Amino acid sequence: MSSPNNPDYAVEFARVRKTYGSRAAVRDISFSIRPGEFFSLLGPSGCGKSTTLRMIAGFEQPDTDGGEVRLNGKLVNHLRPYERDLGMVFQSYALFPHLTVARNIAFGLEQRGVGKTQIAERVRRAMELVQLDARTFGDRLPPALSGGQRQRVALARALVVEPPILLLDEPLGALDLKLRKEMQQELKVLNKRLGITFVYVTHDQEEALTMSDRIAVMADARIAQVGTPAEIYERPRTPFVARFIGESNFLEGGVEAVEGGRLTVCHPAGLFSVPVPAAGAPAIGSRVHVALRPERLHIDGEGDNSLPATISHVIYRGEMLHVKLSVAGGGELVVATRNEGQLRRPLAWKAGDKVRATWFAEDVQVLEQDPT
Ligand code: ADP
Ligand code: MG
Repeated sequence: MSSPNNPDYAVEFARVRKTYGSRAAVRDISFSIRPGEFFSLLGPSGCGKSTTLRMIAGFEQPDTDGGEVRLNGKLVNHLRPYERDLGMVFQSYALFPHLTVARNIAFGLEQRGVGKTQIAERVRRAMELVQLDARTFGDRLPPALSGGQRQRVALARALVVEPPILLLDEPLGALDLKLRKEMQQELKVLNKRLGITFVYVTHDQEEALTMSDRIAVMADARIAQVGTPAEIYERPRTPFVARFIGESNFLEGGVEAVEGGRLTVCHPAGLFSVPVPAAGAPAIGSRVHVALRPERLHIDGEGDNSLPATISHVIYRGEMLHVKLSVAGGGELVVATRNEGQLRRPLAWKAGDKVRATWFAEDVQVLEQDPT
């Protein structure tokens, strides 16, 4: 959706800080969200996601001298929530229990003085968008709805006013798995179809990966990394991001040489090489930590790197097998491999076998340290 000042960003945070008493809920965070983007704030409970969203909404304000919040290019630090052009959906649906579904959805339009005929039409369309049959549900009261139906009403109520930006705070948290998956797909489709900017809070990494154009991973009141799902998963910047999103193996060693865009790293089990990180080559002798995704590791397979290891056990997971390896120096590596069918194509090795863990240097990421 366009706006008079045609800004590049729907939402911008510049070094925004929010403290409660002596505790920082959000510490100097900066990020920008493009119009129409599906942008997620992802992180564990208490890391500052809701506080960040509430500062976009205007329910909270940054500290004095605590940075700038801009919407569509306009500084909004001191604007009240109703002065910002936003819709919001909460985990607790916050529907009016004594108003029918149709009246709940119509509420925002009535407040804006929209005419009766137009309201009826827009309510009907909003219910269609969230796949609630208007004839079946229009006259019901919220207590007579299931959790999923209530969540749809809450969504329709936010969408009906056609906000350029929609804020969603763990909106699917109360739904069972099957419905949650369905709603995830529907929200993503709505985002693309309506062109509304979505800012989505979740602690569920799979949900964020599935739905988002970009993700800001938050940890301890800070943003650890912003990127597309593939960037976050395949190029995690810190140990926290590598652990929080998916599973990861970690190897640590001393830098022995830097040559041809690669570091040679000395590990107790042997040497391996990694690409020189974007931030530049660390000094010879310094220690580096690297992350390897389990599915990028192979047993006696492909790769320009390998370390000797012993298979400690094989975990059957259906679609995948997880093979645990112990490497010299006390480390453990997990290899994820596609299950090709254990009855027809059983594995060529078993627990106790000596093998080589192999991988391509380009599939490994040198990590920065988590901030302390
Ligand atoms: P998240 O949504 O990621 O779980 P929040 O943004 O709700 O985290 O909270 C971040 C931190 O700020 C937490 O430590 C929380 O206890 C604290 N906090 C949030 N709101 C308030 C408040 N109104 N008063 C005091 N502390 C708060
Ligand atoms: Mg929260």
